[in-house]
Amino acid sequence: MPELSSIEIDVSFNNQQIAFIDTFVKKNHAHFLEGDGCPEAWQALLAHALTGDVLPISAPTFRDPKPTETSSDDAVRTLVAEHVIQPGHGKAIEVPVGHILRIEQLVGAQCVDFNCFNLHDYKERLHVGRTRSIHGFHPTRGHFLWSSVPRERPMLYFLTDTANCHDTLYPYCSAGLYRNFFGIEKHTNCHEIQAEAQREYGLTPDDVHESFNLFMPTDIDTNGNPYIKRGTAVAGDHVEFYALFDVLAVPNVCGDDLAHYNNFSLKPVKASVLAPGGAEAAHLRSLEGEARTYSSPHLVGQPLKSDRALSKDPDYQPGFPHAHHGDLHPQPDAVRPIPAPTAGHLRQRPQCRPAVLPHGLDLPAPVLVTTPP
Ligand SMILES: [Zn+2]
Repeated sequence: MPELSSIEIDVSFNNQQIAFIDTFVKKNHAHFLEGDGCPEAWQALLAHALTGDVLPISAPTFRDPKPTETSSDDAVRTLVAEHVIQPGHGKAIEVPVGHILRIEQLVGAQCVDFNCFNLHDYKERLHVGRTRSIHGFHPTRGHFLWSSVPRERPMLYFLTDTANCHDTLYPYCSAGLYRNFFGIEKHTNCHEIQAEAQREYGLTPDDVHESFNLFMPTDIDTNGNPYIKRGTAVAGDHVEFYALFDVLAVPNVCGDDLAHYNNFSLKPVKASVLAPGGAEAAHLRSLEGEARTYSSPHLVGQPLKSDRALSKDPDYQPGFPHAHHGDLHPQPDAVRPIPAPTAGHLRQRPQCRPAVLPHGLDLPAPVLVTTPP
């Protein structure tokens, strides 16, 4: 097989490809434009493309403000609202532009699912996929949280993060998940909790979007598959998001008490809205201008429905399902001594119910845990 450098390949471009390459060269390879160097830049880019390398496009970088924990401006923050969100519950919270949403662990190891909408247009919502593609699987302090297309712009700035264990890989837990995979008909789950919390602003179960999973450590295994790790957040750990426009934020206490990432129990968390002041406010306002540079340039000429603003239902009475006090709190009378598992127990462990999939698809055989005799 000849060396790639010796192969002659005819390549033709359409006009939009040519426009892209010209723009890319001007933006990223200005030094090639000195003198008659532009053809060199073209050749360099084509070499990248034809040898299978990705184009060397750098991800956006953002200024990273000082951690607010060490800022002397903390003292000028004003508490606007505060909510303790109990197990089985969520809360829809208005966060005006220029304000900070703070979500804090009160006990620790409690995942918090998070939805967010433009307060004046609920169709613009947090785009977890775009956020993941720009900032990686585990966004943290210094990153933007991006909104959905066609706006596709920064909606929140990740201002503070003491836990550094947030996930964009997993969807919210749901009633279907517990029913179909665990055989449980009624169980607290993030989808139903989110839907009930968002109902206060006229949203429906269809409006729950992919969640940003706060305080949920995840990783990728050697086969490229995601997995969830035991929760590591402790009491006092918190995240803070700075609103770049008016939003409706909806955090909820994840309802999964069957997993180690919640340490097998459901705990309350605290959500606060804070108004920054002084130098911190001035610094954060500068981010709003930076965020505006990423506004979507146009909406392909199609008008948008205008009646999309969210407003609080004054008659809303929360009715969170499966959230009865006695069901979610530890029951001292129910504590039973648990014998250590024996090899016999483990051999008798039932296999997972095989999933029935359409179109002839099949799952790999479940793995039965065994121990040496
Ligand atoms: Zn959940």
